[in-house]
Amino acid sequence: MELNTLSVKELLEGYQAKTFSPLEVVDAYADAIKQENPALNAYILETVDVAKSQIDESAQGSLANVPMALKDVFSTEGIETTACSNILKGFKPPYNAPVVDRLYDQGAILLGKVNTDEFTCGASSETSAFGVTKNPANLECVAGGSSGGSAAAVAANLCAFSMGTDTGGSIRQPASFCGSVGLKVTYGRVPRSGVISMASSLDTVGALTKTVYDAALVLGAIAGSHRLDTTAPNVKVDAYLGGINNSIKGMRIGLPKEYFSESVEPDVRARVMEAVEVLKNEGAIIKEVSLPMTKYGVAVYYIISPSEVSSNMARFDGVRYGPRLGEDPQDLYEFYLKNRGKGFGPEMKRRIMMGTYALSAGYYDAYYLKAQKVRTLICQDFEQVFEEVDVLAAPVSPFPAFKIGAKSDDPVAMYNADALTIPSAIAGLPGLSVPCGNTTDGLPVGLQLMSPQWSEAKLLNVGHAYEMAGR
Ligand code: GLN
Repeated sequence: MELNTLSVKELLEGYQAKTFSPLEVVDAYADAIKQENPALNAYILETVDVAKSQIDESAQGSLANVPMALKDVFSTEGIETTACSNILKGFKPPYNAPVVDRLYDQGAILLGKVNTDEFTCGASSETSAFGVTKNPANLECVAGGSSGGSAAAVAANLCAFSMGTDTGGSIRQPASFCGSVGLKVTYGRVPRSGVISMASSLDTVGALTKTVYDAALVLGAIAGSHRLDTTAPNVKVDAYLGGINNSIKGMRIGLPKEYFSESVEPDVRARVMEAVEVLKNEGAIIKEVSLPMTKYGVAVYYIISPSEVSSNMARFDGVRYGPRLGEDPQDLYEFYLKNRGKGFGPEMKRRIMMGTYALSAGYYDAYYLKAQKVRTLICQDFEQVFEEVDVLAAPVSPFPAFKIGAKSDDPVAMYNADALTIPSAIAGLPGLSVPCGNTTDGLPVGLQLMSPQWSEAKLLNVGHAYEMAGR
């Protein structure tokens, strides 16, 4: 038995039965990281020593001695946290993000920080200042993004689970590209405080795991309001594992026709439809539905998110965080220019310019305000469809993992990669990516399940039913 291949559930059972010890497990991960990471570039900082020092055989938490990896946007006290940007290289936060504290409180231990697109802006992890993460299923392909390091680390058994963030698809898409499970939660379900912001009205925090069961287990550890996040309201936290084995007989599952258009590769569509067939055999009622506003999703997202990015990036001025990059500035203005000019990569500059433009006097009404109005229409689309069905099923991405470099010179092609994950993110809804087989080229495909706000329990129930029946 290779200890690093076990799910969180299996690890906990093994610890309980004393089949193996936490130290043996950490050693297995350390070996696997040493062997596999040079080719994959999932970890950008290994903290195996930290993991070892955190082992506590008497720990009782729901994640006691479970080794995890954190996307490098999670603030970790005294441990470098860079958002994979040159502007933050060397930055060691003075505190842990509350969500990290919650994971530690439940006994999780830290194997390291994993790669992401710079400030989570991207769909391939290619904009990282640490270089691209490769896909474990095919080293010529991207792992997806922005949580590419998180997805690859789970898929390659370099951690038991990892944490990521999803603003427009960044947990679900890399999970689908690598063949791991990824849960994007309802906006506000998990506190964002201390997690470096991209677009504050969209950012969510969630786990990437080997199984849907594990996704429920981790969510139970991190969900709930927090005094440091005023956007995480005090909504009751469900017992995510409690209902996970419920029958899905009679569950109404909608297939939004806009998510199965010609732009979806036939192989992807075929795998997703096979998964839908499995759900049908489990007793779900399948129905075609329509989300007519889908086509505006990418346009709305690329007004709202860069606007918020441009505002969030203003704090990185070379004074407060990270290294001083500009030499001998003549005045403060030049100091900012040099630091920001050297510190941000090309995609960040593009987003800052787009966002600043969209928010400028005279353009605000035409772009930002208009986009907010269409955002409302997209939300209404989902509200209406959830009167007809309980859950939506669709592909996560129109295509499987693409070749490294294939889209990096074409920002619009890269932006369109998230066409099927952006609309539900705009509406603040939860979404789950579950592996549903491979293309004929052997690349993983993800089934996307979406449901109303705060209904993660239902989503996990359906995902788990699929996983159990499909295996
Ligand atoms: N790929 C999308 C973007 O580049 C989504 C990123 C994300 O969810 N963090 O903005």
